[in-house]
This record gives sequence, C-alpha cells and structure tokens, in this order.
Amino acid sequence: MQNPALFFVPGSKVLFITADMYDIPIEKIVRSRRRTIALVITSEAQLIVRAPLKAPAAMIEDLIREKRSWILKKIGEIRQRPATTVHAYSEGETFFYLGRVYPLHIVESGNSPIERTDRLCVCRTLLPDIKHRLKCWYMQEAQREIHARCMWFSMTTGYTPKSIRITDARQRWGSCTSEGGLNFSWRLIQAPLEIVDYVIVHELVHLKQPDHSKKFWSRLKEIMPDYERRREWLRENERLLRI
Ligand SMILES: [Zn+2]
Repeated sequence: MQNPALFFVPGSKVLFITADMYDIPIEKIVRSRRRTIALVITSEAQLIVRAPLKAPAAMIEDLIREKRSWILKKIGEIRQRPATTVHAYSEGETFFYLGRVYPLHIVESGNSPIERTDRLCVCRTLLPDIKHRLKCWYMQEAQREIHARCMWFSMTTGYTPKSIRITDARQRWGSCTSEGGLNFSWRLIQAPLEIVDYVIVHELVHLKQPDHSKKFWSRLKEIMPDYERRREWLRENERLLRI
C-alpha cells in the first residue's frame, strides 16, 4: 500500500495522486458549500476537483481512484482534439467562415478592405491592425447571418427574442438575458451553419426554459432531433474557432 497518496510536488501547485499505474495530476481542488465531490476535466485536459468544505482528502482520493479509468479516458479524448489555432496572419494561413476554410490572401488594393472570395482577401494597409480588423469583419458578418437564422428559427419555433446582439464573448457561444434578449458570440460564425443553428435553437428554447432541465433538453430534441451530435462537434472543435 502506498501512503499517503495525496502530496504536493515541491515547486509546483499541482497535487499528485499515486494510483496503481499512473499518476493523475490534480490541477486544483476547489472547496465550496456544495454537497458532493465532482471531478471536472477541463478543455486543457486538467483535472479539477470540486469538493465540500470539509470533505477529507481520503474521500477525494478514493473517488479519484474509483474513477481513474474514466479520468484517463477523458484526458486521452481531450488530448486527441485539434490543437488551438494560433495565427501569425501571414499569406496562406487558414481562417474559418461558416465551417469552410479560407486561406488568407494579402492584396495591394481591392474593392473593400476585407473581401471573402475563395480566399479571405485583406488589404495590405490593414496589416498593422489585422487582428482587430478581422474581428470587426467577423462581427459584421455574424450580425447579418446569425440575425437572419435566428429570425427563421423564431418563426418556425414560435419563440421570439426581444433583441439579438452579437458580442465579443469568449467563453459562451450564446446566452439569454432575463429580459428575453439573445446574445451570440461573433466567434460562432466560424462554425458550420448546422452548428450555428444548434446554438441559436438552444438559446431560443431558453426563452421559455431558462435552465438546463430535462424539459429543456426534450424540447430542444423535439425541434432538433440530432442536437447532441452538433453539441459534441462544438465541444471537440472549439479550439479551432479562435482568430
Ligand atoms: Zn443553455
């Protein structure tokens, strides 16, 4: 028997648990007034433990040991996912728009400063500020496309938002305000249309069902029977959708 199983690695904030064959690093233990222990694998493949204030270390340790194969499986799955996109904004680099890939093409002059043909054409004069200019362009496009899709689904589902706004949110694709307005991150416009549609319908259903209750998911499934597949796509590919 190895003992103790939980210990600090000197010079690091990471706790390690020695399980039989593998070491599973714990990024952080977050204690709060919750009642149960939850094991969370983040999108960076790190294990975070959420635990009640007084849960003994041995209890956390037992749970990790019990869930070891699940944890390793999840970590493995996340490591298989595409790596985060990092752009240097040079000729030929790829960008997404509604799920299609567009290579960046720097032009000397054009009809408009940014133009989408079979490539994403950007005037050379924009280069010093290209990240910001591309973001503004994506925001405009998102405004038009997402607004139109949202109106369409509003008509077919009968859920009507009071307003539709495009935001700069990083963590959330969409959100629903208590006043009945819907917000969507401009980043969503990079995803395939069927994924955009999923986020729109998800938020529209929230107008009637603000929580993620069984009722919420079953209503969503009635409108979009294959929503789980779309949701999974978003989870697996979110790292690609950064500019
Ligand atoms: Zn939701």
